[in-house]
Amino acid sequence: MFDVAIVGGGPAGSSCAAFCAKAGLRTLLLERENFPREKVCGDCLNPGCWPVLHRLALAERVRALPHGVLNRVEFIGINGRTLAVELPATEDAEIALKRNLFDQLLLARARELGATVCEATTVTALSPPGNAKENWMITAGDKTFESRTLVAADGRNSTVARLCGLLPRSEKERIALQTHLPLPEGFGDRIVLQFLPDGYSGQAPVGGGELNLCLVSVPRKMAALRNWAEARFGISPDHAWRTITPLTRAPISAGHDSLFLVGDAARVVEPFTGEGIYYALASGELAAAAIVSQSGGRSADEVSAAYSAAHEKLYRGRLWINRLARAAVLSPHIGSAILGMARFQPALLRFLTSKIVG
Ligand SMILES: Cc1cc2nc3c(=O)[nH]c(=O)nc-3n(C[C@H](O)[C@H](O)[C@H](O)COP(=O)(O)OP(=O)(O)OC[C@H]3O[C@@H](n4cnc5c(N)ncnc54)[C@H](O)[C@@H]3O)c2cc1C
Repeated sequence: MFDVAIVGGGPAGSSCAAFCAKAGLRTLLLERENFPREKVCGDCLNPGCWPVLHRLALAERVRALPHGVLNRVEFIGINGRTLAVELPATEDAEIALKRNLFDQLLLARARELGATVCEATTVTALSPPGNAKENWMITAGDKTFESRTLVAADGRNSTVARLCGLLPRSEKERIALQTHLPLPEGFGDRIVLQFLPDGYSGQAPVGGGELNLCLVSVPRKMAALRNWAEARFGISPDHAWRTITPLTRAPISAGHDSLFLVGDAARVVEPFTGEGIYYALASGELAAAAIVSQSGGRSADEVSAAYSAAHEKLYRGRLWINRLARAAVLSPHIGSAILGMARFQPALLRFLTSKIVG
């Protein structure tokens, strides 16, 4: 019997579990994979993550992991023209690090703070409480767990949201491929966001002599984009890439009666902006605060409404950035045209970049 059960041990689930356990709640985290596990991601840690990592007493441990320092973003248009924007060079600046390392550290912190963590445990069925006195019954294989509150932190294709009838139809208009490669010589301390005729590519050094390479395109153009990457980076045609879809999905209301959605399970942001991990950590912390206040005696209705409002506020003002990024990525010609304008208005590109990386 737990106060809170969290499904998914990515940044959203581990952040929520760590804050709940720290506050003294009986916390359960159920994760499908055995960690360390890789994840399709650009591996860039937005500066907004640092305050949450400080509150989890993790900032120094994250900095001690192999990582790439990022001094600038380079935007490359279809025509090959490059525009660079310098990134802030403070201690809490943007870095890139592999998700297998980052996610494992967060999960270990949740465990250290007292959460019960079950790996290789896939949630397959749920039975919601019939009234305020009943609990969630959560089934994973042949095990059943009981909890007062449930948190969906199981990513963009959330099983919890699907089982609760909340998962919207996904737009499979684009897919992503991702891999790690040996870092090309002289690559430098930069993120590259490159528009190509068949989609776009993100590249960032992640430390340990490795490069993160992401490709995003519509399904019919992905083979051509992959051919470009094979030629550009000397990748063999039988190289195993990780893949994920959808990249866009309608948001789900984040607060329900004794059910909270966090991270990608609630809302997916454009990968191009490199902010998903920040939102995952921050919404995990917000949900934990809501759950703690409910266990302190606040009514479930009041708590779920307050969490939904706080969640909405967290993402407020981001919609236009996401729309712009999506338009730029869906049509590399639009992306290149924006870059063309920015050549004559460098302040525009600096402004857009600062909106994302602070
Ligand atoms: C191509 C691409 C590039 C990106 N680049 C960046 C970037 O550079 N920077 C950035 O900040 N964000 C980036 N993102 C976004 C970022 O990866 C996500 O926003 C982030 O991983 C969300 O974290 P999460 O904890 O919500 O979900 P996830 O990280 O997806 O974690 C969900 C967890 O739930 C587990 N799970 C799923 N189903 C079940 C189940 N039934 N039972 C138990 N466990 C389950 C999974 O195994 C997984 O560990 C990118 C995304 C894409 C697609």
